[in-house]
Amino acid sequence: MQQRFKATIVVLAVLPIVATATGSRPIALVKDAAKGPSVTLGSFGRLPDGRAVELFTLRNGRGVEVRAINYGGIIVSLKVPDRKGHLDDIVLGHDDLEGYLRKPAYFGAIIGRYANRIAKGRFEIDRKVFQLATNDGPNHLHGGERGFDKTIWNAEELKTKDGVGVMFTRTSPDGEEGYPGRLDVRVTYTLNDRNELVFEYFATTDQPTPVNLTQHSYFNLAGDGRRDVLGHELVIEADQFTPVDSDLIPTGELTPVAGTPMDFRKSTAIGARIAQDDVQLRRGRGYDHNFVLRRNGGGLSRAVRVLEPTTGRTLEILTTEPGLQFYSGNFLDGTITGKRGHVYRHRFGFCLETQHFPDAPNQPSFPNTILRPGQEYRSKTVLRFEVQR
Ligand code: BGC
Repeated sequence: MQQRFKATIVVLAVLPIVATATGSRPIALVKDAAKGPSVTLGSFGRLPDGRAVELFTLRNGRGVEVRAINYGGIIVSLKVPDRKGHLDDIVLGHDDLEGYLRKPAYFGAIIGRYANRIAKGRFEIDRKVFQLATNDGPNHLHGGERGFDKTIWNAEELKTKDGVGVMFTRTSPDGEEGYPGRLDVRVTYTLNDRNELVFEYFATTDQPTPVNLTQHSYFNLAGDGRRDVLGHELVIEADQFTPVDSDLIPTGELTPVAGTPMDFRKSTAIGARIAQDDVQLRRGRGYDHNFVLRRNGGGLSRAVRVLEPTTGRTLEILTTEPGLQFYSGNFLDGTITGKRGHVYRHRFGFCLETQHFPDAPNQPSFPNTILRPGQEYRSKTVLRFEVQR
């Protein structure tokens, strides 16, 4: 059972930590390791309407530190050791709230109600047609104009027997961005001493509605988003992917990866085939595709393993979801300046979004994404950080 406690008691103790910069500090590794797991609460500024944004800092006994805010559930930094024990921030983002508001790019955020695209923002449930906001050309992307990434969530600290975390909750009202029904949502991030960051999603509704939640962190395991990610080596546990049309909407087919640049069944660098003359890579402007995960049973299965060879950092992702969107940061173009003044150029970060398939509400052969009253939406994804020596 998870034990919850109120955040307020630790506020004063936390203030000095919040004030520190996001630099890599190997010394902190030793200091924090002695302290064991902790979760502390601070502030991350105010929205233009005056609402305060809270910052939660999770640390485990091995120096891993996750900082997340209750605006969009955004993970603003994630520090993990390399093979020498040196901590670096391995996600893209901004130093302050203003950065996230200026040019939103879903950095580190919870995506909802529906991750990825729904064609023309339209779908039918029980012969009734619904029209969502269209915010990506003619299509609906990542929950619409003001998705879950751009809203304030209620947030509470969590302490479980397995680790420390933060629990975000919110009610998405009936009609939000065009979606039917009221949706009550809970998302938790938990950090444990096995260097795992666990995302758990839960939702209920009072009307049938599509739900597909994910987490949109952009990774660069070399640290600090200072160079492109093309040298990262990936294994994706998928024999098939869902090809897309020129608007990145799935055609409905499941295509074997064998003999295509989508074949990551053996460890392959992101950059090894990204420039090949391939219709899917052209449409995606690189990798921006949903992989059909080869699952073993109904529980958690490994989706992907990543190695960054220069630092030895590895990231393994396990999930209960049937799909994985691998996005190689193709739309990053140097127009966003992120943490510590680093300019995020083409492919300086990549996303691995565990999910149901894009546009499933319009694709009868894809796994179902319609949640109905009385049902519970549950999804779990584990990010496991290790090093290869
Ligand atoms: C999508 C991309 C989109 C990006 C925005 C990804 O999940 O697959 O097409 O441009 O999110 O950050």
